[in-house]
Amino acid sequence: MNVAGRIEALRRQMRDEGIPAVVVSTVANLRYLTGFDDVIDDGINGACLVTQDLTRFYTDKRYADAAVSAAEGGPWEIGVQRENLYIEICDDLHDLGAESLALETSVPYGRFKFISEQFRGAVRMTDHLVETFRQVKELSEIERIEAAATIADRAFDHMVEFIRPGLTEAEIALELEFTMRRHGSDGMPFAPIVASGPNGAHPHAIPGPRTITPGDLIVLDFGARVGGYCSDMTRTVCVGAASDEQRRLYDAVLAANEAGLAEVRAGRPCVDVDRVGRDVLVERGLGDLFTHGIGHGVGLDIHEMPTLGPRSTQSLRNHAVVTVEPGVYVEGFAGVRIEDLVVVEDGGHRRLTNSPKELIEI
Ligand code: ZN
Ligand code: ZN
Repeated sequence: MNVAGRIEALRRQMRDEGIPAVVVSTVANLRYLTGFDDVIDDGINGACLVTQDLTRFYTDKRYADAAVSAAEGGPWEIGVQRENLYIEICDDLHDLGAESLALETSVPYGRFKFISEQFRGAVRMTDHLVETFRQVKELSEIERIEAAATIADRAFDHMVEFIRPGLTEAEIALELEFTMRRHGSDGMPFAPIVASGPNGAHPHAIPGPRTITPGDLIVLDFGARVGGYCSDMTRTVCVGAASDEQRRLYDAVLAANEAGLAEVRAGRPCVDVDRVGRDVLVERGLGDLFTHGIGHGVGLDIHEMPTLGPRSTQSLRNHAVVTVEPGVYVEGFAGVRIEDLVVVEDGGHRRLTNSPKELIEI
C-alpha cells in the first residue's frame, strides 16, 4: 500500500486549494490515508490531522496499541487521546500557529460546531478531498476487491443449490451471509438483499418473512469484504420455469448490462455508460421501469466515487472499480437486476464478478 503516495497526493491537492491543515474523521478516509489494517473499525473514535509537515493520527486508549504497531516504520505519528480528541487536535493546531482549517463536509454538525468553537480560526469545508484520489485504485486495493468478489461468486454458486420453495427471504439472506463469512469475508459491507416475487419491485427491499414460491423471480444483491474492501454483485434467478414476461424482462436487463459494460473504459464519461445501458431498456419500452443510476464506484465504501447515472459529470479513470447494474421494477409483479463489478484497465475493463448471467431456473 502506497501510503506515502496517498499523503503526497493529498498535500498537493491541499496546496492547490490553499488548505494549510485538514482534519479527516470519516472512517473510510482514515483507513485510506493511514493504510492501517486491523485498527480502524466503524466504531472508532479517531481522526487525523494533515499539514504540509505533519501527519498525526489521534485515537483513544482502546485503539492506541494497535495504532502504534500499525504505524511503525511509516509516516504517521500517533496521538493518544487524554481528554477529548478534538480539543487535542485544536491545541496542536494552535501550537503549530495554524490560522485556518478544513473539515470534511460529511462531519456531523455537532462535531463541526465543537471544532469551530475550539479552534477559533477560520474553518472551511472540503468536499471529496480524499474521495477523489480513492477512485483510482492501487494494485493491492484491486486484489482485495477481487478477493471479495470471488467470495461473492462462490456464495452465489452455493445459493443456486440452496434456494428452494418454502424457504423465506430472511433464511436465504442468512445463508448468503453465513456462506460469505465462511469463505473469508470480514463481515458484510451491507445487509444482503433477497427480494422475491413482488418484493423484487423495490430496489432496496429488506429480506423478510415472505416464503419462496414456484414462479418467483428472486433478486439477490450482496457483497463481501476483504481487508476493508467491498465487493458488490446482483443476480436474479427464477424458481421454476420463467414465464414469457419474466424472460422478456430478464433478457432486456441482461442486454442493458452488456451494453453498459461495453462502454466501460478509461476516459469514457460516466453519463455515457448510463445512457447506453438505459437506451436498451427504453427501446424495449422499459425505460420508465429503470429507476436508478446504472452504477457506482466500489472500494473501502460500498458506494463511492464515481457515480454512473444520468447526471454524472465525471469520466472513468484508469484503475477505477465500478458496478454496472441496470434493473427493471414492476410494481406488484417482480424485479430484475443484474450487477457486475469491473475494474477499468488496459483500454477497457476486466470483470471481477464472474458468476453466470444466463437466466438460472432453479
Ligand atoms: Zn449491489
Ligand atoms: Zn451496487
